[in-house]
Amino acid sequence: MNPPARTRVAPSPTGDPHVGTAYMALFDKAWALRTGGQFVLRIEDTDRNRLVAGSEQQIYDSLHWLGLEADESPEVDGPYAPYKQSERLDTYRPYVDQLIEAGHAYYCWCSADRLAQMRAEQQASKQADTGYDRLCLGKTREERAALPGFSETPVVRMLIPDDAELSFTDLIRGEVRAPMPDDQVILKADGFPTYHLAVVVDDHLMDITTVVRGEEWISSTPKHRLLYKWLGWDEPEYAHMPLLRNVDKSKISKRKNPAARLLWFREQGYLPEALRNFLQLLGYPPAAGEQEVTRFDEFVADFSWSKVSTVGPIFDLKKLDWLNGVYIRALPAAELADRIIEFALSSGQWVDVPPNGHEIVHSATPLIAERLVTLADALPKIGFLFTPDDQLVVNPDAVAKLRPDTGQVLDAASAALTGLGEWAAEAIQEALRGALVDGLGLKPKFAFAPVRVAITGEQVSPPLFESMAILGRDSSLSRLTALRGSL
Ligand code: GLU
Repeated sequence: MNPPARTRVAPSPTGDPHVGTAYMALFDKAWALRTGGQFVLRIEDTDRNRLVAGSEQQIYDSLHWLGLEADESPEVDGPYAPYKQSERLDTYRPYVDQLIEAGHAYYCWCSADRLAQMRAEQQASKQADTGYDRLCLGKTREERAALPGFSETPVVRMLIPDDAELSFTDLIRGEVRAPMPDDQVILKADGFPTYHLAVVVDDHLMDITTVVRGEEWISSTPKHRLLYKWLGWDEPEYAHMPLLRNVDKSKISKRKNPAARLLWFREQGYLPEALRNFLQLLGYPPAAGEQEVTRFDEFVADFSWSKVSTVGPIFDLKKLDWLNGVYIRALPAAELADRIIEFALSSGQWVDVPPNGHEIVHSATPLIAERLVTLADALPKIGFLFTPDDQLVVNPDAVAKLRPDTGQVLDAASAALTGLGEWAAEAIQEALRGALVDGLGLKPKFAFAPVRVAITGEQVSPPLFESMAILGRDSSLSRLTALRGSL
């Protein structure tokens, strides 16, 4: 049995949330649940230049939507508050001073211009070591001020020792070796800590036991480990998740792939439970014979880091489409109908619920559930049920495909339905069959096509008789008459 783990996801509110945040949160949450621990959401907002208004709220909203609720966060609070780094600024400074005093960190007054020039020279001379050249190391402010490229407000850098430990054990990858780091800046000129210092201090103070993050952070881990060592703290365990990749294997980015935006999935009408299953599969491919459809609680129940893949998973949306269909069809019809309505309102398909909209969607959902990929597909399929009869647009291509006897068929259909007693799908079908198939001697295909075009405006539609039952007698008859009149 593993002791209760404390995990955290630590997104930076620098734009609308990346799908990677949900991917990490899912594995964080799974491990916390599996071990009876806690999952923390911490906002890492120390990079003031990159902050985007509204981004933090979007992070909360999208994690709620996905059902990945944090046990502690800026929203729900908790014993380690505050959970937003900008509200913890006083926390970091004493550790910086401690590191400077112990000789593990030093002030650097090099101006941005000087650093750019240094890098250009390193590149031009094809020097192997491209890190900071330590011009400021061992100098007092006065000594450094006498040299060119001096900036009034210094940063603080780590003094990375030559024998820094570069290997560490990763829960997913086993022994990992990272490259030799540069003298990393830990305190910026604006007084804000960099990610590297803040992440270590906060993970320690928040008692985080397991750091789950993307593999792009492997190269930073030796720096973090040095900070733990210098500050005399126990280290957490590390799990570096494989990077999500586009179908062409490149790293998934919001610039290149709309699906890198977490909000995109909601906008497209995917179900949160399907996205969760999809993200699970990405990091955790099922073994041969194991099934791909795994609910989150099942995933949690036998979660183990050893099953997480180290190969960058390909973000294959066809798989998500398939999963979404599976989850859509597993929903009770009434719940699916409610989700279709909720989606219609949140996506702008509907500004308001139209008259009888609730009833119509509930009646029509069983007719279309079988063919839905996303929630967004639903209303376009049943739009004809909401259109006023005199505004129904009949697709001219559908009309062009009808046979010359269409007028006669529509007349016979109207006659058969006018006096029909009970207005229900079965009765409608029987009446039309009697009039058109038996009466006119037509094959069902030719008998019902004109009726379908008249009622729905299209050649292909949800089941016809059920649709007519929902639409009602008056509308159905008026549409038959309208197409008849337009021929
Ligand atoms: N703030 C970092 C990010 O935005 C967190 C990385 C980590 O989990 O250590 O990705």
